[in-house]
Amino acid sequence: MTQAAPMQDHLVIGILNGDDIGHEIVPASVEVARAAAEKTGLRIDWRPMPIGRTALDTHGSTFPDGTMEALSTMDGFILGPIGHRAYPKVPGAINPHPIMRKGFGLFANVRPTRAYPGLGALRDDIDLVIVRENNEGFQPDRNVVAGSGEFRPTEDVTISVRVITRAGSSKVARAAFEIARQRKKRLTVVHKNTVFKLGCGMFVEECYRVGAEFPDVVIDEVIVDTMAMRLVRDPQSFDVVVTTNMFGDILTDEAAGLVGGLGMAPGLCIGEGALAMAQATHGSAPDIAGQGIANPFAMIESTRMMVEWLGHNRGIPEALAASALMERGITEALSRPETRTGDIRGTTGTRGMTDGILAAIARAA
Ligand code: ATP
Repeated sequence: MTQAAPMQDHLVIGILNGDDIGHEIVPASVEVARAAAEKTGLRIDWRPMPIGRTALDTHGSTFPDGTMEALSTMDGFILGPIGHRAYPKVPGAINPHPIMRKGFGLFANVRPTRAYPGLGALRDDIDLVIVRENNEGFQPDRNVVAGSGEFRPTEDVTISVRVITRAGSSKVARAAFEIARQRKKRLTVVHKNTVFKLGCGMFVEECYRVGAEFPDVVIDEVIVDTMAMRLVRDPQSFDVVVTTNMFGDILTDEAAGLVGGLGMAPGLCIGEGALAMAQATHGSAPDIAGQGIANPFAMIESTRMMVEWLGHNRGIPEALAASALMERGITEALSRPETRTGDIRGTTGTRGMTDGILAAIARAA
């Protein structure tokens, strides 16, 4: 996670709004990052890129040619939520998620869950990170190179294939151990090897194999159904959790529910390459799009995580300072109902919360 890389003095970051509330929360994230960057002397070259439903209208594709190539030259990008299920059934309407995650080797989806006081969290002491494997498992749109991991040999039979590899498992395990090493040095492996003896069995084996390289990190395991229960009963007992794709998908939404809902669920997608992708856990929430009420926290915090990660990865102290300033602004805004959105017991909208964060950043010494 923090391996040294050649020093550079600025960051190039792509802006991809996505769909629906993405047009509100992504610009808010850029505003906050820009304000923090200006104050800390971090130079960021922002590169807006077309994607999603608007790109279908302007470029004939939801993921225009050249976008991948352009992104591959950048340090990272902010990806707003993609509402691909509502895309019209036309040739240019594709879901860019699997292409990006696979194409950039973003195999680890780092999803923190943290309770902030007064937002209706189940407990005040929740502070955990779920590291979800991102490129294989049960997800049929990314676990094969051609076709789909789901197929229907007869009208009445459907087969869903789950792919677990040693390489994929050990890569996500290593990412999780590195995060655990920077936190409380505890890692919980979540699986169901009681039933998926081969698939989950291989995942667990690889976690222990990688764990041998991290003797300072204590490793334990929890069966996924028990984990679903324990996340509700004693979420404070977990610190860093690593799991396979589908289990991670479900558990991270559950974890978000513990601390105020999907608006409180940020994420950072990383891999072995140098590129990072800031992506909130939630979808494009078409039901509230355009109303100015979407909670921008998850997207802003995802952006902050990316700035921090790039700061470590590229050796840019100004990026670490900008991340710290963003965190301060976010925490201050969350502490008052008048600068947080309605879904987290606040009285304002996306604009008001963003302004609250910006004001706190402006006030900071
Ligand atoms: P996907 O399958 O694409 O992840 P989803 O079905 O999980 O999407 P979301 O789009 O994530 O659905 O949203 C579910 C509900 O959560 C929305 O209807 C919306 O009310 C709420 N929600 C999601 N994100 C936010 C947010 N940032 N602020 C406020 N409410 C949100």
